Amino acid sequence: MELPKPDPLRLAKKAEVARALMAQFPADAVLHREDDLIAYECDGLAAYRQSPMAVVLPRTTGEVSAAMKILHELRIPVVPWGAGTGLSGGALPLADGVTIALSRMNKILEIDYDNRCAVVQPGVTNLRITEAVQQEGYYYAPDPSSQIACSIGGNVAENSGGVHCLKYGVTTNNLLGLEVVLADGTVMRLGGKNMDDQAYDLMGVLTGSEGLLAIITEVTVRLLRKPETARAILAVFNSVEESGQGVADVIAAGMIPAGMEIMDKLAIEAVEEYAKSGYPVGAEAILLIEHDGPEVEVNHLLHQTEQVLRKAGATDIRVSQSEEERLSLWAGRKAAFPAMGRISPDYYCMDGTIPRSALAEVLGKIRELSEKYGLRVANVFHAGDGNLHPLLLYDGNVPGELEKAERMGAEILKLCVDVGGVLTGEHGVGVEKRDLMTYQFGEQDLDAMQRVKCSFDAEALLNPGKVFPVLRRCAELGQMHIHGGKLPFPDLERF
Ligand SMILES: Cc1cc2nc3c(=O)[nH]c(=O)nc-3n(C[C@H](O)[C@H](O)[C@H](O)COP(=O)(O)OP(=O)(O)OC[C@H]3O[C@@H](n4cnc5c(N)ncnc54)[C@H](O)[C@@H]3O)c2cc1C
Repeated sequence: MELPKPDPLRLAKKAEVARALMAQFPADAVLHREDDLIAYECDGLAAYRQSPMAVVLPRTTGEVSAAMKILHELRIPVVPWGAGTGLSGGALPLADGVTIALSRMNKILEIDYDNRCAVVQPGVTNLRITEAVQQEGYYYAPDPSSQIACSIGGNVAENSGGVHCLKYGVTTNNLLGLEVVLADGTVMRLGGKNMDDQAYDLMGVLTGSEGLLAIITEVTVRLLRKPETARAILAVFNSVEESGQGVADVIAAGMIPAGMEIMDKLAIEAVEEYAKSGYPVGAEAILLIEHDGPEVEVNHLLHQTEQVLRKAGATDIRVSQSEEERLSLWAGRKAAFPAMGRISPDYYCMDGTIPRSALAEVLGKIRELSEKYGLRVANVFHAGDGNLHPLLLYDGNVPGELEKAERMGAEILKLCVDVGGVLTGEHGVGVEKRDLMTYQFGEQDLDAMQRVKCSFDAEALLNPGKVFPVLRRCAELGQMHIHGGKLPFPDLERF
C-alpha cells in the first residue's frame, strides 16, 4: 500500500506550532511525534481517524489559557479532549489543529458537604466523584455507562445522561458552577456553590456545547444523599412493544422510577454471555426498573409496579433481594455496548430520542430497516426517557458494510425526527450527525445557534467542522458568509 506523501506546508506549520508550544510548556506536555499522537487519533466513533498536529497536556487552568493564547495568535484550530469515549466524533482531531487533552487535570479540588457539592478538575472521571464521597453517604447522580472512563468535562460538553437520569436529570440538572477558558485564552467563571444565577443562563448554554464554545477547566457538581433503599425489578415480556407498553403504564400510574431500561433478545443474549447478570436468555425483551427512597415508599412502589407490569403482559418478574443482586442487574445493562463484541466485529450505536408513545411504531420500523439492509440490530435503551440506542451490527472488514450501517443509521435518526423526536439524546452531534442537522433544524434555527457560536468564538477556532453542517464566518452577524461550504476534513481517513 502506498503511503500518502506528507504535505510540506502542513509539516512546516506543524513544526512552527510545536516550537511555539514547547517554548512555553515542559517537554512531556507537548506531544508531536506521530507515534505519540496515535492514541488521540479517534474517540469512540472509531470508524473515523485523523492525526492532529500536536497534543497539549495542561495541568492547570493557567496552562490551558496559555495554550489557547498561543494557538489563537497562530490562528490554529483547537479540539478539546476529555477521555475520548464520545460516540459522535466530537473529539476527532483536525489535521491542521491541535488537541488539548484535559486528562492531567484530574484532581478533586474540594468536597463541601455543607453545601452538598464537589469542585473538580475536568479530567476527573465521572465515577471517581461518587467514589470520593460515598463513604459519607453521598453520590453524583448522572451515571453514563462509560462512567469508569469518561471525564466530567466531557460529560458537561455532551450533557451526558445515564440509566438513573429519568428521576435525577442529566448533567445540566446536576451542575452548580463552571470555570471555562475561551478561544482567546480568557478565563470565565459561571455559577458557583449557590443554587441559581441571576443573569443569563450561560452555564446552560455551555452545557452540551460539544467543545465549540469554550474549554471547561473546573466543574462544581451537586452531590445527592444516597437513598435509604434502592431495589431493581427485572420484568420479562413476549415482545419489545409490550415492554414499551409497560413503561408507558408505569409512568401513567404516576410513578417516576429512578431508571427504566429495555433490552431486546439479541442484546440480552450478548450481555448475559458477557456479564452473567442472570438475564433470561431466549426472552424477547426485558424491562429493568429501579425504585429508590425510604424503604416503606420503595416497598409500596415495587408492589404497585408489579401489578402494572403484569397487566401490561409481563410473563415473569424478579425483584432484587440484595444490594449485590441489584448491582448485578445494572452491571449487565451497563456492559451492553462492550458486550456487542461477543456477537459482532463492529457495531454502530445510534442515539435518537422519541416521544414514549411512538416506541412501538419506531421499534417496528427499525425491524423493517434491519431486514431491508440485511444488518442485525440489538436494541438497548433508556425507555423512560424515550432515548433509543439501536446497535447496528456490521463487519468493517466486509467492503461496503460500514457505509450500509451509516445509511441505515441515518434512516433511523430521520425516523426519530419524523415521529416528533430528535437526532440525539445524549451522545451529541459531533461529526456523526452533523450532516443530518438540516433534517431537524431549519436554516433560521441553525443561524441562531451559529450566532451563539460566533459570540463565543468569532474566528471559529474551537472544534470547527463539528455540529454545524455548513461552516460560516462570523465577521458580520446577520450577514454571514459561507466558507465555500467546505468542511475541514479534506483528508479524513476512514477505516
Ligand atoms: C461503552 C460506552 C458507553 C457509553 N454510555 C453512555 C451513556 O450511558 N450516556 C451518555 O451520555 N454517554 C455515553 N457514552 C458516550 C460518552 O462516554 C459520553 O459522551 C462522555 O460524556 C464523553 O466524555 P469524554 O471525557 O470521553 O469526552 P470526549 O470523548 O473526550 O469528548 C466528547 C466531546 O466533549 C468535548 N470535550 C471533552 N472535554 C472537554 C472539556 N474539558 N471542555 C470542553 N469540551 C470538552 C470534546 O471536544 C468532544 O466534543 C458512552 C460511551 C461508551 C464508549
